[in-house]
Amino acid sequence: MDFIKNLKMAKYKRILLKLSGEVFKGDAEYGLDGSKLLSLAGEVKDLQDKGIEIGIVVGGGNFWRFRDFKELEFLPRISSDTMGMMATVMNALAFEKALANLDAKVRAVSSFPCEKAMETYIPKRAEHLMEKGNIVIFAGGTGSPYFTTDSSAALRALEMNCDLLMKATKVDYVYDKDPMEHEDAKKFTELKYQEVIEMGLGVMDLTCASLLKGSTIPMLVFNLNEKGNIDKAVSGEKVGTIIT
Ligand code: UDP
Repeated sequence: MDFIKNLKMAKYKRILLKLSGEVFKGDAEYGLDGSKLLSLAGEVKDLQDKGIEIGIVVGGGNFWRFRDFKELEFLPRISSDTMGMMATVMNALAFEKALANLDAKVRAVSSFPCEKAMETYIPKRAEHLMEKGNIVIFAGGTGSPYFTTDSSAALRALEMNCDLLMKATKVDYVYDKDPMEHEDAKKFTELKYQEVIEMGLGVMDLTCASLLKGSTIPMLVFNLNEKGNIDKAVSGEKVGTIIT
């Protein structure tokens, strides 16, 4: 009965959560922060217990990001991007184990084939896993260089027919400029994808915004550091900036 009650309270039935590599490193300079992973896993498990179907796209920036190592002239872009995709596989493995440690049903899949670590992403199979109540962690970005994991989050949200794409950040809302550096930064609570493109807002890249512009999937940009925000957002409470 509790399960049914909780399900009715949720506004969204199937969500795609985008977690950048930054999230996994917590306060550390690099790599993974175990306690951060576990507390995050706890919040995600709570959602699963409410009957919400959850997909998670993980970034890799806590280990490797093309733009952070651009100055390495000997390293071609394709190799550097490949390293970035491999970094997402490391995060996915770690988060899969953090969730499993809490007895969550979870499966990591990768669009960058990595058979000894996890199965390769096949859309129909991944959707089936979600329908069966597994949290599905999507690693490997799009599986191709020259993209970001924001774009892969848009793609997976579309392919998995998600009701909402939730992008976790360190700030409460989308602003027209960095609120840490500019006192007069303007805050947005609602935006259109077209406005994100026209104003060149840094909240997502153009590929991601263009993919979502023609869709019915809203993106919620919210502050992950405020505990309980994921739960509030899924229940339809006003949190962060909603982009449609
Ligand atoms: N990457 C890629 N193709 C993709 C997704 C990611 O080549 O489809 C590479 C790219 O080099 C990127 C890195 O993986 O810089 C890590 O991804 P991202 O920067 O999106 O991670 P985040 O900033 O979310 O941690």
